[in-house]
Amino acid sequence: MNSPLLPCPIQPVSAALSLPFPVDVLRLDLLHSVVSGNKWFKLKWYLAEAKTLGKTSLLTFGGAFSNHIVATAAAAQQQGLTSIGIIRGEEPQTLSHTLLAARQYGMQLYFVARESYREKLIPSVVFDQHKASEIYTIPEGGYGRLGAQGAEEILPLHETAAYTHILGAVGTGTTLAGLVSAALPHQKIIGIPVLKNAFSLQTEIEALLPSQKKSVFDLQWNYHFDGYAKHTAELISFMNSFYTATGIPTDFVYTGKAFFAAMDLIQKNHFSPDSRLLLVHTGGLQGNASLGKGTLIFEG
Ligand SMILES: *Cc1c(COP(=O)(O)O)cnc(C)c1O
Repeated sequence: MNSPLLPCPIQPVSAALSLPFPVDVLRLDLLHSVVSGNKWFKLKWYLAEAKTLGKTSLLTFGGAFSNHIVATAAAAQQQGLTSIGIIRGEEPQTLSHTLLAARQYGMQLYFVARESYREKLIPSVVFDQHKASEIYTIPEGGYGRLGAQGAEEILPLHETAAYTHILGAVGTGTTLAGLVSAALPHQKIIGIPVLKNAFSLQTEIEALLPSQKKSVFDLQWNYHFDGYAKHTAELISFMNSFYTATGIPTDFVYTGKAFFAAMDLIQKNHFSPDSRLLLVHTGGLQGNASLGKGTLIFEG
């Protein structure tokens, strides 16, 4: 993408949080004003392929709170492409902040009943306005080899060889697959699924990995806070105190849960004292706009 990428530093947080070994945060949330965090990496090679094939419209799938939807809309606009969002569920009376933002970036939204959404078919009304040959389809959530290939570029942004563990939030697992592919043999990658009981993730992530990498990641299943985009007072309170201590804002759908998990695992002695942990801040702060005003002490 030709809009400027901003620096995304590594920020140490051990001292601020009184942790027993070095823990740093990779601030991908600072990477780009709109396509923040991991989404830029996941979209990169899909966009390149769309251009190579001469496509003029990006189509993808997502729910009302999908960061992937708004990132695709913004990326398409920057590239001079049109975009089409196939959205799960009936059109609501008032659109979510995420969908309003996507529409502002020029995305045409088509709402599809949940049952048909599951089949990931393009509704025929789309073809009233677009030629099928112009459309490039990006899988839901950017899941796929090209998405993981982009995410392989995250760890090489910095000198990351000294970390023993790398931890991040998991939706489709595409980003995690990229981290696993890029990791060195002594590094362990820990994923925090934010969906409840999404046990198919294990094989979905493995499907994106070369065979020698298939079993070298660890999914911690107990930090979904009752499911996707659900939250509790405990999570919100954690996000506020994490911000107070470190100055780092998190989102309640992904990074808040992942960082909560990291602190909990540290407290439960999941890591040996000679560990060095890198937390990947995958962005997603725009999602906080759906929380009531005053819930968080920081601006998302
Ligand atoms: C989309 C998203 C994820 C999940 O990425 P996957 O590659 O689908 O696992 C994690 N964190 C944030 C902030 C996201 O927006």
